[in-house]
Amino acid sequence: MRLYSTLQRTKVDLPELPGPIGIYTCGPTVYQRIHIGNARPFVLSMWLRAWLRHQGYDVTLVENITDINDKIYLAAPGASAELAATATEWHREDTDLLGLGRPDFEPKATETIPEIVALIEELIGDGYAYAAGGDVYFRVGAYPEYGALSGQRPDQVQEQEDEANPLKEDPRDFALWKANKPAEDTWWDSPWGRGRPGWHIECSAMAEKFLGDPFEIHIAGLDLVFPHNENEFAQSRAAGREFAHIWMHNGMLELTGEKMSKSIGNIAALRDVVERWGRETVLLYFLTAHWRKPIDFSDETMAQAAAQVETFRNAFRGEERAGGDWAPFAAALDDDFDTPAALAVMHEWRRAGQLLPLRDALTVFGLGSLAEEAVPPPELVELARRRQAAREAGDFAESDRLRAEIDAAGWEVRDEPGVFRLVPK
Ligand SMILES: [Zn+2]
Repeated sequence: MRLYSTLQRTKVDLPELPGPIGIYTCGPTVYQRIHIGNARPFVLSMWLRAWLRHQGYDVTLVENITDINDKIYLAAPGASAELAATATEWHREDTDLLGLGRPDFEPKATETIPEIVALIEELIGDGYAYAAGGDVYFRVGAYPEYGALSGQRPDQVQEQEDEANPLKEDPRDFALWKANKPAEDTWWDSPWGRGRPGWHIECSAMAEKFLGDPFEIHIAGLDLVFPHNENEFAQSRAAGREFAHIWMHNGMLELTGEKMSKSIGNIAALRDVVERWGRETVLLYFLTAHWRKPIDFSDETMAQAAAQVETFRNAFRGEERAGGDWAPFAAALDDDFDTPAALAVMHEWRRAGQLLPLRDALTVFGLGSLAEEAVPPPELVELARRRQAAREAGDFAESDRLRAEIDAAGWEVRDEPGVFRLVPK
Protein backbone atom coordinates (compact mmCIF):
# COMPACT_ATOMS: atom_id res chain seq x y z
CA MET A 1 0.00 0.00 0.00
CA ARG A 2 1.16 3.52 -0.66
CA LEU A 3 -0.05 6.93 0.49
CA TYR A 4 0.66 10.44 -0.73
CA SER A 5 2.90 12.28 1.71
CA THR A 6 3.22 16.06 1.88
CA LEU A 7 6.84 15.71 3.04
CA GLN A 8 8.17 13.66 0.07
CA ARG A 9 5.61 15.22 -2.33
CA THR A 10 4.93 11.77 -3.77
CA LYS A 11 3.28 8.45 -2.84
CA VAL A 12 5.28 6.53 -0.23
CA ASP A 13 5.11 2.75 0.40
CA LEU A 14 4.02 1.41 3.76
CA PRO A 15 6.27 -1.17 5.45
CA GLU A 16 5.74 -4.90 4.91
CA LEU A 17 3.01 -6.69 6.84
CA PRO A 18 2.37 -6.72 9.74
CA GLY A 19 3.95 -3.31 10.45
CA PRO A 20 3.58 -2.12 13.18
CA ILE A 21 1.96 1.10 11.96
CA GLY A 22 1.54 4.01 14.33
CA ILE A 23 -0.86 6.76 13.25
CA TYR A 24 -1.00 10.14 14.95
CA THR A 25 -3.90 12.48 14.14
CA CYS A 26 -3.95 16.15 15.19
CA GLY A 27 -7.18 16.29 17.18
CA PRO A 28 -9.51 19.08 18.24
CA THR A 29 -8.94 22.13 20.39
CA VAL A 30 -11.87 21.67 22.74
CA TYR A 31 -14.01 24.78 23.33
CA GLN A 32 -17.12 24.30 21.13
CA ARG A 33 -19.11 21.61 19.30
CA ILE A 34 -17.25 20.28 16.26
CA HIS A 35 -18.59 20.91 12.77
CA ILE A 36 -18.83 18.53 9.83
CA GLY A 37 -15.45 19.71 8.46
CA ASN A 38 -13.69 18.86 11.74
CA ALA A 39 -15.00 15.31 11.37
CA ARG A 40 -13.06 14.63 8.17
CA PRO A 41 -9.62 13.80 9.70
CA PHE A 42 -11.40 11.69 12.36
CA VAL A 43 -13.31 9.70 9.72
CA LEU A 44 -10.20 9.32 7.54
CA SER A 45 -8.17 8.07 10.52
CA MET A 46 -10.80 5.55 11.62
CA TRP A 47 -11.28 4.21 8.07
CA LEU A 48 -7.55 3.96 7.44
CA ARG A 49 -7.09 2.02 10.68
CA ALA A 50 -9.96 -0.31 9.74
CA TRP A 51 -8.54 -0.96 6.27
CA LEU A 52 -4.96 -1.53 7.51
CA ARG A 53 -6.23 -3.96 10.16
CA HIS A 54 -8.33 -5.71 7.52
CA GLN A 55 -5.11 -6.14 5.50
CA GLY A 56 -3.38 -7.66 8.53
CA TYR A 57 -1.40 -4.70 9.87
CA ASP A 58 -0.78 -4.12 13.54
CA VAL A 59 -2.09 -0.55 13.92
CA THR A 60 -2.18 1.92 16.79
CA LEU A 61 -4.12 5.16 16.31
CA VAL A 62 -3.60 8.19 18.56
CA GLU A 63 -5.73 11.34 18.31
CA ASN A 64 -4.86 14.07 20.78
CA ILE A 65 -7.11 16.48 22.62
CA THR A 66 -5.78 20.06 22.88
CA ASP A 67 -7.36 21.08 26.18
CA ILE A 68 -5.13 24.06 26.97
CA ASN A 69 -5.05 26.92 24.47
CA ASP A 70 -5.70 30.66 23.95
CA LYS A 71 -9.06 29.89 22.32
CA ILE A 72 -10.21 28.08 25.47
CA TYR A 73 -9.07 30.89 27.78
CA LEU A 74 -10.94 33.38 25.59
CA ALA A 75 -14.11 31.31 25.37
CA ALA A 76 -14.42 30.79 29.15
CA PRO A 77 -12.60 33.44 31.20
CA GLY A 78 -12.02 32.09 34.70
CA ALA A 79 -13.43 28.65 33.85
CA SER A 80 -11.23 27.38 31.03
CA ALA A 81 -10.57 23.94 32.56
CA GLU A 82 -14.31 23.34 33.04
CA LEU A 83 -15.07 24.33 29.45
CA ALA A 84 -12.25 22.09 28.15
CA ALA A 85 -13.61 19.12 30.14
CA THR A 86 -17.16 19.72 28.88
CA ALA A 87 -16.08 20.21 25.27
CA THR A 88 -13.93 17.05 25.44
CA GLU A 89 -17.16 15.16 26.27
CA TRP A 90 -18.93 16.93 23.40
CA HIS A 91 -16.20 15.79 21.02
CA ARG A 92 -16.59 12.20 22.21
CA GLU A 93 -20.40 12.29 22.02
CA ASP A 94 -20.46 13.88 18.57
CA THR A 95 -17.86 11.60 16.98
CA ASP A 96 -19.52 8.55 18.62
CA LEU A 97 -22.60 9.36 16.53
CA LEU A 98 -20.61 8.25 13.47
CA GLY A 99 -20.46 4.70 14.83
CA LEU A 100 -16.81 4.18 13.85
CA GLY A 101 -15.45 3.33 17.31
CA ARG A 102 -12.70 5.25 19.12
CA PRO A 103 -8.98 5.82 18.47
CA ASP A 104 -6.73 3.57 20.59
CA PHE A 105 -5.48 6.54 22.63
CA GLU A 106 -6.95 10.03 23.03
CA PRO A 107 -4.36 11.79 25.19
CA LYS A 108 -4.94 15.24 26.62
CA ALA A 109 -2.27 17.93 26.51
CA THR A 110 -2.91 18.68 30.18
CA GLU A 111 -1.99 15.08 31.04
CA THR A 112 1.29 15.22 29.12
CA ILE A 113 2.98 18.19 30.86
CA PRO A 114 6.00 16.26 32.29
CA GLU A 115 6.86 14.85 28.83
CA ILE A 116 6.42 18.30 27.24
CA VAL A 117 8.68 19.97 29.83
CA ALA A 118 11.32 17.25 29.37
CA LEU A 119 11.33 17.71 25.58
CA ILE A 120 11.68 21.50 25.92
CA GLU A 121 14.61 21.04 28.34
CA GLU A 122 16.25 18.74 25.80
CA LEU A 123 15.88 21.35 23.05
CA ILE A 124 17.32 24.08 25.31
CA GLY A 125 20.25 21.78 26.19
CA ASP A 126 21.00 21.23 22.50
CA GLY A 127 20.86 24.94 21.62
CA TYR A 128 17.57 24.72 19.67
CA ALA A 129 15.53 26.68 22.22
CA TYR A 130 15.96 29.48 24.76
CA ALA A 131 14.07 30.96 27.68
CA ALA A 132 13.00 34.61 27.44
CA GLY A 133 11.01 36.30 30.20
CA GLY A 134 9.15 33.17 31.33
CA ASP A 135 8.49 32.03 27.76
CA VAL A 136 10.60 29.47 25.89
CA TYR A 137 11.12 29.80 22.12
CA PHE A 138 12.31 27.47 19.38
CA ARG A 139 15.34 28.95 17.62
CA VAL A 140 14.33 28.67 13.96
CA GLY A 141 17.72 29.99 12.75
CA ALA A 142 19.53 27.09 14.47
CA TYR A 143 17.62 24.49 12.44
CA PRO A 144 18.54 24.69 8.73
CA GLU A 145 15.89 22.16 7.63
CA TYR A 146 13.06 24.42 8.79
CA GLY A 147 10.42 24.52 6.03
CA ALA A 148 11.09 20.98 4.77
CA LEU A 149 7.47 19.89 5.28
CA SER A 150 5.50 22.93 4.15
CA GLY A 151 7.91 24.33 1.57
CA GLN A 152 8.08 27.62 3.47
CA ARG A 153 11.59 29.01 3.08
CA PRO A 154 13.11 29.98 6.42
CA ASP A 155 14.00 33.46 5.15
CA GLN A 156 10.36 34.03 4.17
CA VAL A 157 8.78 32.90 7.41
CA GLN A 158 6.99 35.77 9.09
CA GLU A 159 6.29 36.20 12.75
CA GLN A 160 3.86 33.48 13.77
CA GLU A 161 0.44 33.92 15.37
CA ASP A 162 0.28 36.56 18.07
CA GLU A 163 3.72 35.77 19.36
CA ALA A 164 5.36 39.18 19.23
CA ASN A 165 7.75 39.50 22.17
CA PRO A 166 10.63 42.01 22.34
CA LEU A 167 12.76 39.38 24.11
CA LYS A 168 12.66 37.03 21.10
CA GLU A 169 16.01 36.64 19.31
CA ASP A 170 14.31 36.36 15.91
CA PRO A 171 10.72 37.21 14.91
CA ARG A 172 10.37 33.76 13.29
CA ASP A 173 10.93 31.93 16.61
CA PHE A 174 7.82 30.28 18.04
CA ALA A 175 6.77 29.50 21.60
CA LEU A 176 7.31 26.11 23.21
CA TRP A 177 6.25 27.36 26.63
CA LYS A 178 4.20 30.46 27.46
CA ALA A 179 4.42 32.37 30.75
CA ASN A 180 1.13 32.67 32.65
CA LYS A 181 -0.82 35.90 32.05
CA PRO A 182 -3.28 37.42 34.54
CA ALA A 183 -6.47 36.30 32.74
CA GLU A 184 -5.27 32.71 32.26
CA ASP A 185 -6.70 30.47 34.96
CA THR A 186 -4.93 27.19 34.14
CA TRP A 187 -1.15 26.83 34.57
CA TRP A 188 1.69 24.56 35.69
CA ASP A 189 4.96 25.25 37.49
CA SER A 190 8.00 24.68 35.30
CA PRO A 191 11.75 25.39 35.29
CA TRP A 192 10.84 28.71 33.57
CA GLY A 193 8.14 29.70 36.05
CA ARG A 194 4.39 29.35 35.99
CA GLY A 195 2.95 28.82 32.52
CA ARG A 196 1.63 26.34 29.98
CA PRO A 197 2.82 24.62 26.82
CA GLY A 198 2.61 26.05 23.29
CA TRP A 199 0.33 24.23 20.91
CA HIS A 200 2.94 22.64 18.61
CA ILE A 201 5.10 20.99 21.29
CA GLU A 202 2.09 19.05 22.61
CA CYS A 203 1.86 16.97 19.46
CA SER A 204 5.61 16.23 19.40
CA ALA A 205 5.43 14.98 22.99
CA MET A 206 2.15 13.04 22.71
CA ALA A 207 3.08 11.27 19.45
CA GLU A 208 6.34 10.05 20.98
CA LYS A 209 4.73 9.07 24.30
CA PHE A 210 2.14 6.79 22.67
CA LEU A 211 3.80 5.67 19.43
CA GLY A 212 7.53 5.85 20.14
CA ASP A 213 9.96 7.05 17.50
CA PRO A 214 9.80 6.85 14.57
CA PHE A 215 6.19 6.18 13.63
CA GLU A 216 4.58 5.70 10.24
CA ILE A 217 1.72 8.14 9.54
CA HIS A 218 0.79 11.64 10.68
CA ILE A 219 -2.70 12.92 9.74
CA ALA A 220 -4.04 16.48 9.87
CA GLY A 221 -6.15 18.93 7.91
CA LEU A 222 -4.46 20.83 5.09
CA ASP A 223 -4.88 24.03 7.11
CA LEU A 224 -2.39 22.71 9.70
CA VAL A 225 0.62 22.18 7.40
CA PHE A 226 2.02 25.56 8.37
CA PRO A 227 2.85 26.55 10.98
CA HIS A 228 1.53 23.77 13.26
CA ASN A 229 2.87 20.63 11.53
CA GLU A 230 6.05 22.35 10.33
CA ASN A 231 6.79 23.32 13.93
CA GLU A 232 5.97 19.84 15.29
CA PHE A 233 8.35 18.34 12.74
CA ALA A 234 11.13 20.90 13.41
CA GLN A 235 10.98 20.39 17.19
CA SER A 236 11.11 16.61 17.02
CA ARG A 237 13.78 16.46 14.30
CA ALA A 238 15.93 19.04 16.10
CA ALA A 239 15.65 16.85 19.22
CA GLY A 240 17.12 13.96 17.22
CA ARG A 241 13.90 12.06 16.44
CA GLU A 242 12.94 10.79 13.00
CA PHE A 243 9.26 11.45 13.80
CA ALA A 244 6.58 10.60 11.17
CA HIS A 245 7.52 9.00 7.83
CA ILE A 246 4.31 9.84 5.96
CA TRP A 247 2.39 13.12 6.34
CA MET A 248 -1.22 12.94 5.17
CA HIS A 249 -3.13 16.23 4.87
CA ASN A 250 -6.84 15.97 4.15
CA GLY A 251 -8.58 18.51 1.91
CA MET A 252 -10.95 21.09 3.34
CA LEU A 253 -14.72 21.07 3.35
CA GLU A 254 -16.22 23.77 1.15
CA LEU A 255 -19.66 25.28 1.32
CA THR A 256 -21.60 25.83 -1.85
CA GLY A 257 -24.94 27.42 -2.57
CA GLU A 258 -26.93 29.96 -0.67
CA LYS A 259 -25.41 29.37 2.74
CA MET A 260 -21.93 30.25 1.52
CA SER A 261 -21.91 33.53 3.42
CA LYS A 262 -22.43 31.97 6.83
CA SER A 263 -19.65 30.45 8.83
CA ILE A 264 -19.65 26.69 8.67
CA GLY A 265 -19.50 26.27 12.44
CA ASN A 266 -22.85 28.02 12.77
CA ILE A 267 -24.73 25.97 10.24
CA ALA A 268 -23.18 22.53 10.28
CA ALA A 269 -22.47 21.19 13.74
CA LEU A 270 -21.66 17.50 13.26
CA ARG A 271 -24.43 16.34 15.57
CA ASP A 272 -27.02 18.44 13.68
CA VAL A 273 -25.88 17.07 10.34
CA VAL A 274 -26.05 13.49 11.66
CA GLU A 275 -29.48 14.14 13.13
CA ARG A 276 -30.79 15.54 9.87
CA TRP A 277 -29.22 13.12 7.38
CA GLY A 278 -28.34 10.05 9.42
CA ARG A 279 -24.97 8.52 10.20
CA GLU A 280 -24.77 6.43 7.04
CA THR A 281 -25.35 9.38 4.72
CA VAL A 282 -22.61 11.40 6.42
CA LEU A 283 -20.14 8.53 5.99
CA LEU A 284 -21.15 7.89 2.39
CA TYR A 285 -20.77 11.62 1.69
CA PHE A 286 -17.13 11.47 2.84
CA LEU A 287 -16.54 8.36 0.68
CA THR A 288 -17.47 10.28 -2.48
CA ALA A 289 -14.35 12.49 -2.42
CA HIS A 290 -10.68 11.55 -2.36
CA TRP A 291 -9.26 12.47 1.07
CA ARG A 292 -6.72 14.89 -0.44
CA LYS A 293 -9.33 16.83 -2.40
CA PRO A 294 -11.70 19.51 -1.17
CA ILE A 295 -15.28 18.30 -0.66
CA ASP A 296 -18.44 20.34 -1.24
CA PHE A 297 -20.96 20.43 1.55
CA SER A 298 -24.48 21.39 0.52
CA ASP A 299 -28.04 20.08 0.66
CA GLU A 300 -27.50 18.81 -2.85
CA THR A 301 -24.35 16.78 -2.12
CA MET A 302 -25.94 15.37 1.05
CA ALA A 303 -29.12 14.43 -0.82
CA GLN A 304 -27.01 12.64 -3.43
CA ALA A 305 -25.22 10.72 -0.66
CA ALA A 306 -28.58 9.83 0.93
CA ALA A 307 -29.79 8.47 -2.43
CA GLN A 308 -26.68 6.28 -2.71
CA VAL A 309 -27.27 4.97 0.82
CA GLU A 310 -30.78 3.91 -0.20
CA THR A 311 -29.50 2.07 -3.29
CA PHE A 312 -27.16 0.02 -1.08
CA ARG A 313 -29.87 -0.64 1.49
CA ASN A 314 -32.25 -1.75 -1.25
CA ALA A 315 -29.65 -4.11 -2.72
CA PHE A 316 -29.84 -6.23 0.44
CA ARG A 317 -33.60 -6.62 -0.01
CA GLY A 318 -33.01 -8.11 -3.44
CA GLU A 319 -31.63 -11.35 -4.70
CA GLU A 320 -28.08 -12.38 -3.86
CA ARG A 321 -25.79 -13.66 -6.61
CA ALA A 322 -22.37 -15.29 -6.36
CA GLY A 323 -19.15 -13.66 -7.50
CA GLY A 324 -17.61 -10.22 -7.18
CA ASP A 325 -13.86 -9.70 -7.55
CA TRP A 326 -12.32 -8.17 -4.42
CA ALA A 327 -9.05 -7.22 -6.15
CA PRO A 328 -10.13 -3.92 -7.77
CA PHE A 329 -11.60 -2.73 -4.48
CA ALA A 330 -8.37 -3.53 -2.59
CA ALA A 331 -6.27 -2.00 -5.37
CA ALA A 332 -8.21 1.27 -5.13
CA LEU A 333 -7.63 1.56 -1.39
CA ASP A 334 -4.02 0.38 -1.56
CA ASP A 335 -3.25 3.13 -4.07
CA ASP A 336 -3.50 6.25 -1.90
CA PHE A 337 -6.73 5.18 -0.20
CA ASP A 338 -8.89 6.15 -3.18
CA THR A 339 -12.39 5.87 -1.69
CA PRO A 340 -14.28 7.20 -4.77
CA ALA A 341 -12.71 4.42 -6.88
CA ALA A 342 -13.55 1.87 -4.16
CA LEU A 343 -17.12 3.20 -4.04
CA ALA A 344 -17.44 2.71 -7.81
CA VAL A 345 -16.50 -0.97 -7.37
CA MET A 346 -19.09 -1.28 -4.59
CA HIS A 347 -21.77 0.07 -6.92
CA GLU A 348 -20.77 -2.51 -9.56
CA TRP A 349 -21.27 -5.28 -6.99
CA ARG A 350 -24.57 -3.75 -5.97
CA ARG A 351 -25.87 -3.69 -9.55
CA ALA A 352 -24.77 -7.30 -10.03
CA GLY A 353 -26.35 -8.44 -6.74
CA GLN A 354 -22.92 -9.59 -5.47
CA LEU A 355 -23.72 -8.96 -1.85
CA LEU A 356 -20.98 -10.95 -0.16
CA PRO A 357 -18.05 -8.66 -1.08
CA LEU A 358 -20.36 -5.64 -0.83
CA ARG A 359 -21.18 -6.45 2.79
CA ASP A 360 -17.46 -6.74 3.66
CA ALA A 361 -16.62 -3.49 1.88
CA LEU A 362 -19.41 -1.56 3.62
CA THR A 363 -18.19 -2.91 6.94
CA VAL A 364 -14.69 -1.44 6.37
CA PHE A 365 -16.31 2.01 6.27
CA GLY A 366 -18.64 1.54 9.23
CA LEU A 367 -21.62 0.97 6.91
CA GLY A 368 -22.29 -2.70 7.70
CA SER A 369 -25.70 -1.62 9.04
CA LEU A 370 -26.87 -1.13 5.42
CA ALA A 371 -26.56 -4.90 4.96
CA GLU A 372 -28.90 -5.61 7.86
CA GLU A 373 -32.28 -6.14 6.27
CA ALA A 374 -34.21 -5.63 9.48
CA VAL A 375 -33.53 -1.88 9.62
CA PRO A 376 -36.44 -0.03 8.00
CA PRO A 377 -35.81 3.42 6.53
CA PRO A 378 -36.89 6.25 8.86
CA GLU A 379 -39.64 7.52 6.53
CA LEU A 380 -41.37 4.12 6.73
CA VAL A 381 -41.08 4.09 10.50
CA GLU A 382 -42.79 7.50 10.43
CA LEU A 383 -45.61 6.14 8.21
CA ALA A 384 -46.04 3.17 10.56
CA ARG A 385 -46.21 5.54 13.54
CA ARG A 386 -48.91 7.62 11.83
CA ARG A 387 -50.80 4.42 11.01
CA GLN A 388 -50.70 3.29 14.62
CA ALA A 389 -51.99 6.71 15.76
CA ALA A 390 -54.81 6.53 13.16
CA ARG A 391 -55.82 3.07 14.44
CA GLU A 392 -55.82 4.23 18.02
CA ALA A 393 -58.03 7.17 16.99
CA GLY A 394 -60.41 4.78 15.21
CA ASP A 395 -59.62 6.22 11.75
CA PHE A 396 -59.43 2.90 9.93
CA ALA A 397 -59.66 4.36 6.43
CA GLU A 398 -56.49 6.37 7.07
CA SER A 399 -54.82 3.40 8.76
CA ASP A 400 -55.56 1.15 5.73
CA ARG A 401 -54.31 3.81 3.33
CA LEU A 402 -50.99 4.04 5.25
CA ARG A 403 -50.67 0.25 5.34
CA ALA A 404 -51.02 0.19 1.55
CA GLU A 405 -48.32 2.87 1.24
CA ILE A 406 -45.93 0.87 3.45
CA ASP A 407 -46.80 -2.24 1.43
CA ALA A 408 -45.94 -0.50 -1.80
CA ALA A 409 -42.49 0.35 -0.36
CA GLY A 410 -41.80 -3.36 0.10
CA TRP A 411 -42.45 -3.62 3.84
CA GLU A 412 -45.12 -5.24 5.93
CA VAL A 413 -46.37 -3.69 9.13
CA ARG A 414 -47.22 -6.20 11.88
CA ASP A 415 -49.21 -5.21 14.91
CA GLU A 416 -48.03 -6.57 18.22
CA PRO A 417 -49.42 -5.69 21.66
CA GLY A 418 -48.78 -1.97 22.11
CA VAL A 419 -46.19 -1.75 19.30
CA PHE A 420 -45.71 -2.31 15.59
CA ARG A 421 -42.97 -4.09 13.72
CA LEU A 422 -41.76 -3.48 10.15
CA VAL A 423 -40.68 -6.59 8.26
CA PRO A 424 -39.24 -6.60 4.73
CA LYS A 425 -41.49 -8.53 2.32
ZN1 LIG B 1 -0.95 18.58 16.15
